[in-house]
Amino acid sequence: MKVRAQIGMVLNLDKCIGCHTCSITCKNVWTSREGVEYAWFNNVETKPGIGFPKEWENQQKWNGGWVRNKSGKLELKIGGKRRILANIFANPDLPEIDDYYEPFDFDYQHLHNAGDSKHQPVARPRSLISGQRMEKIEWGPNWEEILGTEFAKRKKDKNFDEVVQKDIYGQFEKTFMMYLPRLCEHCLNPACVAACPSGAIYKREEDGIVLIDQDKCRGWRMCVSACPYKKIYYNWKTGKSEKCTFCFPRIEAGQPTVCSETCVGRIRYLGVLLYDADKIEVAANTPNEKDLYQAQLDIFLDPNDPVVIAAARAEGISDNWIKAAQRSPVYMMAMDWKVALPLHPEYRTLPMVWYVPPLSPIQSAVQAGHVGMNGEIPDLKSLRIPLRYLANMLTAGDEAPVVRALERMIAMRAFKRAQQVDGIEDVDVL
Ligand code: SF4
Ligand code: SF4
Repeated sequence: MKVRAQIGMVLNLDKCIGCHTCSITCKNVWTSREGVEYAWFNNVETKPGIGFPKEWENQQKWNGGWVRNKSGKLELKIGGKRRILANIFANPDLPEIDDYYEPFDFDYQHLHNAGDSKHQPVARPRSLISGQRMEKIEWGPNWEEILGTEFAKRKKDKNFDEVVQKDIYGQFEKTFMMYLPRLCEHCLNPACVAACPSGAIYKREEDGIVLIDQDKCRGWRMCVSACPYKKIYYNWKTGKSEKCTFCFPRIEAGQPTVCSETCVGRIRYLGVLLYDADKIEVAANTPNEKDLYQAQLDIFLDPNDPVVIAAARAEGISDNWIKAAQRSPVYMMAMDWKVALPLHPEYRTLPMVWYVPPLSPIQSAVQAGHVGMNGEIPDLKSLRIPLRYLANMLTAGDEAPVVRALERMIAMRAFKRAQQVDGIEDVDVL
């Protein structure tokens, strides 16, 4: 057993209100600079929708992540051709500025100077990169919220497969939406690290944070192609790549990440996990995609097990970190209660940002009288967000873990409400 510590995050999607405070505060701290105007280390996208950058979940288009080859070995996909260095000179699969969105500001002065016009207001968008006036803003990561079911016609959200579409398309009362905040996953098997020809990207031994050494980066952009979450951004000014740092200077000082601290919905939880590094390769190479979520869980170690504690100490993990692992909300929600699930485990990078699926669809079913609140088994088929959609996003298509997580969430909600209304106390639960 080779024990390592990893800092991870759980986001409770039920509580995200899509306010973008996390993205703005992150931007102010990390990417409010020339060269990375378009970059959002943290972004919040509307789902269903094609995300940011456009269609990042379409791995046929962008060719990122790991795949199992015919002989069962893991291979890295970098922009179409696999592991071919020459490809970096003409990488056809790099996202372009339009895939992110052209960052803009408004020309407020124009409001004062402009004459009467038919259409108000008259503040025109101006490109933050070229400074030129923009005739129109073509797209943004929350566009689908405005376009409604148009996205369904375009079929570009990979989670919105034909089964989901057939079920809901054209039925107004079945339309749905949710928010998905995204950041670098600080993966256990990071494609970006493996792809970098300069050896500039590294995963820190002590906490698993993945960083890019700016002195070593040569701007090859293999990492941009290889990251299946498209969470590496090329700085056109410095000619180097950048990414979310998990606010490592704050973590080192015992503070939460900026996105966690400023989150209006209080949806983010940070915590330490202990895992067995010897199991990573086997887990990432799990043959059946639907088993990848369980394989990912199997890597983690019980931080209260004396054998694990002794092995962790032998590896030099401090008692402080072991204690942090023992009271880690990430361990509780992801491993113990199993209400938090990984994002697209089928990319085989073993992502370390976990998501509690949104309960609000259950809540709407409760209000509609389809789901009981008093111990009856919920009729999950009456959910507004199709289970299949959530499973495509969080468990490589396996609906069972999503059902389990939602049932536990609705049970806890029912308990908390009963406690509030009837004053029932259950010390075992509390
Ligand atoms: Fe690397 Fe982050 Fe992408 Fe994982 S999500 S491959 S750690 S950039
Ligand atoms: Fe969601 Fe929190 Fe970000 Fe607001 S600040 S969009 S609630 S994650």
